[in-house]
Amino acid sequence: MARRGNPPRRQRSLPPLPEMRRVEVGPDGYDYDVRAVAASRAMKTYRCPGCDHEIKPGTAHLVVWPADLGESAVDDRRHWHTACWSNRATRGPTRTWS
Ligand SMILES: [Zn+2]
Repeated sequence: MARRGNPPRRQRSLPPLPEMRRVEVGPDGYDYDVRAVAASRAMKTYRCPGCDHEIKPGTAHLVVWPADLGESAVDDRRHWHTACWSNRATRGPTRTWS
């Protein structure tokens, strides 16, 4: 039997998918990386900048950081309640903190 070489099977090596992650515009108009934190991964108490209330451990929420800074922005990460981040636009970008 004559062999005519390998069938032209295309093997695409897909790049690893990023995690649950997207870029959204933050309340200040800048782009932010947004990543979901599952309840099981939320081990600490954080303070949500949207409502100034605590995010208790075991609460699914979002962590956002400036998109410009990429993964190096660990110190600039902010933890938000999912609902607060969704409603950030209605809070107004120029809210002053007391
Ligand atoms: Zn909140």
